[in-house]
Amino acid sequence: MVLFYMSARRWRDKRHRDVIRLQKDTTTAVIAKEEYCDYCQMSGTKTVALYDGKTTQGAWAYMCEDHFSDYGVGIGLGLGQILIVETS
Ligand SMILES: [Zn+2]
Repeated sequence: MVLFYMSARRWRDKRHRDVIRLQKDTTTAVIAKEEYCDYCQMSGTKTVALYDGKTTQGAWAYMCEDHFSDYGVGIGLGLGQILIVETS
């Protein structure tokens, strides 16, 4: 849990903190390097992804905060995970 809070310093707004409080094993995914939002990449922008989750379109995608708001279906098993970047 301590490690999670250290890794989560990029999340500043209240909504993120609410999500973090609810996090359990099925709500987070630890990755070794940053991934970029698939939707932003489609429009030629590189935005660090905060979520890996199912979208309203059915497919899974890496999503930034904005695109998760637009297309994400939720956090949890079978829905989506909050990405934790853990570099060593
Ligand atoms: Zn995006």
